[in-house]
Amino acid sequence: MLIVMQKNATPAQIQRVVHAIEEMGYQARPMPGKQRTAVGLVGNDGKVDASRLGALEGVLEVIHVSQPYKQVSREWKAENTIVRLPGGLTVGGDEIVVMAGPCAVESEAQILEAARAVRDAGAVMLRGGAFKPRTSPYSFQGLGRKGLELLAKAREETGLLIVTEAVDAEGVELVARWGDVIQIGARNMQNFALLKAAGQAKKPVLLKRGIAATITELLLAAEYLLAEGNTNVILCERGVRGFDPATRNVFDLTAIPLVHRLSHLPIIADPSHATGLRDKVTPMARAAVAAGADGLMIEVHPDPDRAVSDGAQSIAPDQFAELMRQCRAIADVIGRRVAEPVEA
Ligand code: PEP
Ligand code: MN
Repeated sequence: MLIVMQKNATPAQIQRVVHAIEEMGYQARPMPGKQRTAVGLVGNDGKVDASRLGALEGVLEVIHVSQPYKQVSREWKAENTIVRLPGGLTVGGDEIVVMAGPCAVESEAQILEAARAVRDAGAVMLRGGAFKPRTSPYSFQGLGRKGLELLAKAREETGLLIVTEAVDAEGVELVARWGDVIQIGARNMQNFALLKAAGQAKKPVLLKRGIAATITELLLAAEYLLAEGNTNVILCERGVRGFDPATRNVFDLTAIPLVHRLSHLPIIADPSHATGLRDKVTPMARAAVAAGADGLMIEVHPDPDRAVSDGAQSIAPDQFAELMRQCRAIADVIGRRVAEPVEA
């Protein structure tokens, strides 16, 4: 439930609404906006006396949020959420943020080479898994903490911000300490203990769409993060399971404008995992930018054929540089721009 205040409501009137909500045993989330302030009521169990809140001075209207997800919905917050990252980088504004790097951190030489290459091509963030959620228990599981240290070293050298995955609630603190954005992978989209831990972390979260998750399920997963107090959430479309093995997944491009309509949160696209095929990554990256994606996540490996994981969908640095050129051109057409690296 959302209590929308009149344009000229005083701080004291807003405070009275907050108190009334708390007295009723719910949590209040005041949200100052450009036009007006709204106060969100969190934890509505259907027993809220809306008329009591509606009668308070300075209240314009009481809105019942119709979607099952509340705080992530556009009804709750009309303006786009802009996630602010260190160095002035923003996700969800005019700029399209490109995060690139290998599927997994494999060695110091590999991650440093990848970092330099993606930075030189114009990426602003480095991706790379230190903890890898693998379908098979016999596949490479990542370098763990050592991988995080190597990512931090690459950040120091290149100035790229780090996005890396936490695979369990216990790992969130470690990833939050070393990384700039905590990634929650497709296989963990509904790991609610992990979502709660990431919701309590003091770092932004990149939440990937589950392998067979509906948009509503994705937004409800994001709701867990916001319900715990973390509003710095970036969603990611990475394809969903289809019936045709011709591509690894089915890239759901429509998810991008759909999420923008239903939610105020930014959404980026990952055409690498969505297609699983190296030569499909650039065309689908172009399409994602054209569809309005707020960023891209691209797997780039210095030597894709020798990649320990996801080599078939990893592109080489020169291919990535070409992808960046093409995406800059598409961004220009739709009145956006690809974020530029800040000098290290
Ligand atoms: C990844 O980005 O490293 C990854 C494992 O992707 P997903 O969770 O989308 O499968
Ligand atoms: Mn991968």
